Amino acid sequence: MQELLQMLKALTDAPGVPGNEKIVRDVTASYFAPLGEVISDNLGGVACVKAGTASSPKIVVGGHLDEIGFMVARITDEGYIKFQPLGGWVSQVLLAQRVEIYTRNGPILGVIGAKPPHILSPEDRKKLVEIKDMYIDIGAASQDEATAWGVRPGDMIVPKMEFAPLHNEKFLLAKAWDNRIGCAVAIEVLRRLQTETHPNTVYGVATVQEEVGLRGARTMANLIEPNVAIVVDTAIAGDTPGVTPDEVQAKLGRGPVVLIYDALMIPIPPCVS
Ligand SMILES: [Zn+2]
Repeated sequence: MQELLQMLKALTDAPGVPGNEKIVRDVTASYFAPLGEVISDNLGGVACVKAGTASSPKIVVGGHLDEIGFMVARITDEGYIKFQPLGGWVSQVLLAQRVEIYTRNGPILGVIGAKPPHILSPEDRKKLVEIKDMYIDIGAASQDEATAWGVRPGDMIVPKMEFAPLHNEKFLLAKAWDNRIGCAVAIEVLRRLQTETHPNTVYGVATVQEEVGLRGARTMANLIEPNVAIVVDTAIAGDTPGVTPDEVQAKLGRGPVVLIYDALMIPIPPCVS
C-alpha cells in the first residue's frame, strides 16, 4: 500500500501541462521500465509493452499525462505574469491559488491575484473575475527582474498542491488526478500481469496533449494499432452537495464508472460482439 501511495504522490506532484509533459513522462517511464519494453510516439507519449503468449489482439490500457495548467503569456513592466490557460478552467477556482512557474532556472512560486474587491464598484464585486483580468504575483519588482530570474513567455505554470492523504486515508488530496490516475492504473495493470499468462499483448499507455483536443491519443493509436482500448480517465463524483442523481450517479468508494456516452464518442456496449 505504501508503495502505491508513493507512486500516486510521484505521479500527481510532477508537473506536466499539454505540450510540456517531459517531467511527468520521465516519472511514468521510470515505473514502466521494469515491466516491459518502453516505447514512445513522436509527440511525446510513452507506452510499455507486456508480451503475452500471442502477439494479438493488442490491448491498450491507460490514460493521459497532461494536466490542465497555464503558460506564461507575458510579463508586465511591473513584473506581474499574465497567463494563458491550457485546458478548461473555470475562473472561480483560480483566485488566491498558489502556482509554480517552471523556468529554465527551476520552479518559482507565485500566487494568482486580481484587482482588490475593496476598490470595485458594488456591481463589479458581484461578478466573476475573468481569467484575462488576473495575474500571477511572483514578488518581482519589474519585468527585468522576472526575466533575470529566468521567467520567459511559454514557461509552464501548474497549481502548487502537494499530494496528501486526508484524515480518512482512503481519500487523497492532490492536483492532476485527471489523469495521473489513468497512468497509475496502466502501471498497476502491467505490474499485476507480470506473474500472469495472457493470450494477447498488453500495452500500458500514457498519452500527451489530451486536454487540448485528444491529440496524443491519435499518435499513440497510430504507433500501436490496437484492437481494443480501455481508456481510463476521471469522472464527476455525485456525492457532493447539490448534485442530483439525474446529473451524476457515481459515488466515491462505490467502484469504477463505465461511461456509455460522451460528447466525442459512443463506446461499443459490452453486449455487442
Ligand atoms: Zn482527462
